Order: sequence, then C-alpha cells, then structure tokens
Amino acid sequence: HSRRLREQTPKSEQLHERAAEVTPLGVESNVRSFDPYPFYVEETSGSTVTDIDGNEYLDFLLALGPIILGHNHPDVTSAVKAQAERADLTATPQRIAIEFMERIVEMTPSIEQVRLANSGTEATMHAIRTARSYTGNDLIAKPEGGYAGAHDYALMSVYADEEALGPKERPNTVSYGTGIPDVVEDTVVAIPFNDKENTEAVLREHADDLAAVIIEPVMFSAGCLKPQDGYHEFLRELTEELDIVLIWDEVMTGFRLGPASAQGRFGVTPDMTTFAKAAGGGYQVGGFGGKREIMAEIEPPEDEDAESWHSSAFHGGTYNGHPVSCAAGLATLDVLQNEDVYEHIDRMGERLFEGLQEVADDVGLPVNVQYVGSMGQVYMTDHEIRHYRDTWHANSEQYADWWREAAAGGALFGNPMQSERFFTTYTHSEEEIDRALSIAEDAFNEVNHE
Ligand code: PMP
Repeated sequence: HSRRLREQTPKSEQLHERAAEVTPLGVESNVRSFDPYPFYVEETSGSTVTDIDGNEYLDFLLALGPIILGHNHPDVTSAVKAQAERADLTATPQRIAIEFMERIVEMTPSIEQVRLANSGTEATMHAIRTARSYTGNDLIAKPEGGYAGAHDYALMSVYADEEALGPKERPNTVSYGTGIPDVVEDTVVAIPFNDKENTEAVLREHADDLAAVIIEPVMFSAGCLKPQDGYHEFLRELTEELDIVLIWDEVMTGFRLGPASAQGRFGVTPDMTTFAKAAGGGYQVGGFGGKREIMAEIEPPEDEDAESWHSSAFHGGTYNGHPVSCAAGLATLDVLQNEDVYEHIDRMGERLFEGLQEVADDVGLPVNVQYVGSMGQVYMTDHEIRHYRDTWHANSEQYADWWREAAAGGALFGNPMQSERFFTTYTHSEEEIDRALSIAEDAFNEVNHE
C-alpha cells in the first residue's frame, strides 16, 4: 500500500535519505518516522498542506493538534511578525506574557495561577514536580497506555503490550524504551482508564505515598477513549478524599474541546492542568497551572530570600513565555473567544467522523469510529474501544494501509499509527469534508480487497 505514495513523492524520498545522514531515523521527532518515509511539506495554507513534489493534502493531522484555526491564520501570522519586529527574547519579562497568562487563567476553570513552558513535555514534568513538592510524596499514578510527554516520569506503561503490562487489574509499571533508570519505575503506578473498581483499588493501596494522578480527560493518546460511567467524577471525589493532587493533562484537549477546555465541557475541575498545542496555535506554548496554594510551591517560603529557591519547587527556562509564542497564543485565543470556532470545528467533526463510519459501513469493513467534538479516531474493529487493552484487538496494520491509501489519495487522517487521532480545523469546509470522505471510502475499498 505504500507504492502509490512512493511514486508520488520522489523528492521526499531524496530528502529523507539526506536527512538520515544527519539525524537518527531521518526525522526530528520519532513520531514523524513512518513507512515508506515521511513526505516533506513545502507550503501550508488553511486546511491543506502541499509537499515538495507538489501533492496537495487535506490536512486532518494538523501538526498533532496545535493547528486549530487552520494553517497560517492571518491574525496569528501577523501577531508573530509584529512581535518579532517589536521585541525578541529577553531575560526580563514582557507584558505580552502577562496578557497571555491572564487570558489562560480567565478561560480555564481550574487555573488560578499559571506558569509557561515550551511544550507539553515540559508542562507535565513541571506539574508533576510541583504536585510532589505540595504533597511531599514521590509517587505518581497514570493510566496504562497514556502518553504524557517524553520525560522519564511520563514514559511509563505507555505503548506497551500484554506481556509487559501484566494483569489488567494491577498493570505493571514499565519504561518505554531504553535509557530510563530502573529506579524511576518505583515512582510511578499505572491505573486502568475507565475501570473504576481497579483504579480505586490501586489508589487506595498507595494513597499514603501518592502525590498526584495525571490523566487525560479523553484518552486521545490511545486514539479516542471516552470517559465512561462517570469515571472522572469518581476520580475527582476519590482524589479529594485521599488528598491526592488531580492533574488533568489537557495538552491535547486544552482550548480545543471548548473555550474552557475539557474541564468546562465535562464539568469536572481538577486541582492542576497542563496545556500546550492549541493554546499556541502552532507556536511553542506549554504550561501548567492550578490552585493558588499548589502553585505557591514555586515560591520560596516567606522567611526566605526571594532569590533562594532551596525550599521550593524549581521552575525555570530560557524560553518560557517567549514573546513570539505568547503573541501567537494570544492571537489564537482571541479568535477562539470572539468567533464561532468551536461550533464550526465540532460540526465539521461530526460530519467527518460520522461520515467515516458511514462510508466504512457501506464498504462493509469492520470499523469503529470514536470521537469527541473535533477530535477522533478510526479503529479497525467493530468493537467499541472502552479500555486501553481493547485497542490491541483493532487491526493496526490495516489502519496503516488505509492511512497510506488515503494519503496517496490526498487526505491525511492523522499519521499511520492507530494509537494517534486526528482533528478538524476552523477552515475546513463541508465540501472539503465530503471530498475527504470520498478519499476515505476509496481507501477503505482498497484495504477491504485483501
Ligand atoms: N500530554 C499529552 C496528552 C500529549 O498528547 C502530548 C503530546 N502528544 C504530550 C503530553 C507531550 O507534548 P509535547 O509533544 O508538546 O511535548
């Protein structure tokens, strides 16, 4: 199924060979490496990207989430240009960062105070440290199969199989990949998403040692696992009872599932929240925030020097609150607040994801499409996916084949990994969605003929 794609992308193949000389796998991030090779984008505009061979694709990958207003949104681009001309990075703060942080606090129910970083990885790393400082405990709980960034504490029990994860009631803590010290495994426990009984058992067993539970509101890092049977309400109550900090990792969902993020949409308020992606509209924004008394961990106690941070949780970074990123973020949030973006992307999401289910059904291929608002995933199985372990029974090879056929046809439904998900954006039109559905249908037909 990669033949068509290969034939259409000779220049990308050449560039990939060149890249592989200077960078492992020929890509800047492992997630960009796929068979036969990634294609190289030359231009982006609205809902489309054009590669170096001149192929145009309807884009639902959208940079893995950040592009919520469409590529090169004029307000974002002009804010970036204006800021870059006015002032670049300084190691003293700039007003634009305050304006951006005020807006984040105003929009996000759980965030009374906030700190900025540059990626989701930094956001979750610093949020975890702050929660550990606040509680004086080391242990973190996270769902098996959940991706919360590329730092050591987050790369636990993610992208793992049955052999590694062991019993579903008490999943093992296992590092993803090499290079992570074994001792880190002792600081993380895994919980089964959507399984209240076993989540409760794990949390109660470790309650005295736990600092935080860090969890996505919708588990998009395994495609699209929707919370079921009041799972988050239950977790909110239980963490409150056990004095465990509840961190919602809204890196994927933040400012995308609504102006008040997933917490506004679901009406559950965590103690802390991490965000990135859509908050920056395509530029490097990450951050974390929460209750004032938790964020106070970053400040030295009153009897200490303001420049002495020995008794507080350290958070720093040369690029934190970069003025150009803040300008991009603020311009993005302006549009999100002032225009009917959510109504549009959710309506396009419904048209796309319901449509994908319909065309797959017409083709007669066992497919289950799951989505929330503007984000969703196609699972190659006719079973509902409720738990992480259900994803193992969906056909990931067939998914990759379908993705490649659709990409060759001109639509990017995420990337070839079934554990990912894809999105709609503000510039997608009904006509573009319908065109994408016809490409998807042809691709379903191709993989159905095997
Ligand atoms: N948390 C979640 C839920 C994510 O989906 C991701 C990235 N996909 C991250 C954290 C890490 O974000 P980043 O790639 O910006 O470091």
